[in-house]
Amino acid sequence: IASQAPKRIKALDQDVVNKIAAGEIIVAPVHALKELIENAVDAGSTSLEIVVKDGGLKLLQITDNGHGINKDDLPILCERFTTSKLKAFEDLSSISTYGFRGEALASISHIAHLTITTKTADSSCAWRAHYADGKLALAKPGKSADPKPTAGRGGTQITVEDLFYNVLSRQKAFRSPSEEYAKILDVIGRYAVHCTGVAFSCKKHGDSAMGISTPSNASTVDCIRQIHGSAVANELINFEVSDDKWGFKASGWTTSANYHVKKTTILLFINHRAVESSAIKKAIEQTYSAFLPKGGHPFIYLSLDIDPQRVDVNVHPTKREVYFLNEDEIIESICAEISTRLSQVDTSRAFTTQS
Ligand code: ADP
Ligand code: MG
Repeated sequence: IASQAPKRIKALDQDVVNKIAAGEIIVAPVHALKELIENAVDAGSTSLEIVVKDGGLKLLQITDNGHGINKDDLPILCERFTTSKLKAFEDLSSISTYGFRGEALASISHIAHLTITTKTADSSCAWRAHYADGKLALAKPGKSADPKPTAGRGGTQITVEDLFYNVLSRQKAFRSPSEEYAKILDVIGRYAVHCTGVAFSCKKHGDSAMGISTPSNASTVDCIRQIHGSAVANELINFEVSDDKWGFKASGWTTSANYHVKKTTILLFINHRAVESSAIKKAIEQTYSAFLPKGGHPFIYLSLDIDPQRVDVNVHPTKREVYFLNEDEIIESICAEISTRLSQVDTSRAFTTQS
């Protein structure tokens, strides 16, 4: 048995490789949607309308009013590493748009049926194209795969159907569409708060009631009120802190010591991408523990701009957990500022009740 000859090593099929790569970027419908939201915002949209069916597994559709996509770019749009946002490796250091690796649409095309309808300002009509496995695909057998002219308004509509239809292991991982829908509403809510000037709406396919709807002229606090309620919105303190030495600028809204709930809510954006940072969460909770009763937690919206050369958003293919240089120093400055603001509000309240 020990002297068994080794099996020969062979390359995986490209198709398998593509599906593996796609599965690393898009683990759940919400990850596809996040990429689509970022693309729409990158395109200068002021309105994003989202429709979801079966928690996004059956349908994810996002309609924006951004600058659209040139018809001539449609054939390569869904190839891996095609992007309008990055030209040279050096650009990586100065990139300020959200996703920039040209992988989102490619990934989606490998694991779903993807249809894109888009119209630029200088085109007299919209163009519709279907994609499969990174390439233009036939709408129906026997028809041409070329983009078709169609009526449509300026902007782009992306329709993702039957997500994971060819990844059986993934399909089994989803127990409830409503759980997936909740994650979708959560991420849309984050971008609605962050992207002031952009209207967001989301509903289930066939429903008339909106799951989320925020107008483009709503302020940050308006959006927080709409999505998280007045109990949070009425207790928000604005903060701002920056330090050239560490190359960062942070601002946001955080709840006063009058508000506390069982679990911390952090809406964290780093360079305009919704991300997670366990280091930041821990430090914020630590800061609040001096102000809140035991077991009480805050709500905070924190937008952190860091010199792009200091951020490493590409460490993980999902780009959800982010790391940056001088993390400790930056987090310390932010928490010190929040702490100061919390004590100020505390003393001013105490003062008013005494007088
Ligand atoms: P990336 O965002 O990293 O460039 P994507 O695969 O997400 O890669 O998108 C590829 C390209 O398709 C983008 O660079 C952009 O030019 C174009 N694109 C995607 N979505 C939109 C949209 N909603 N509006 C306009 N252009 C878009
Ligand atoms: Mg993108």
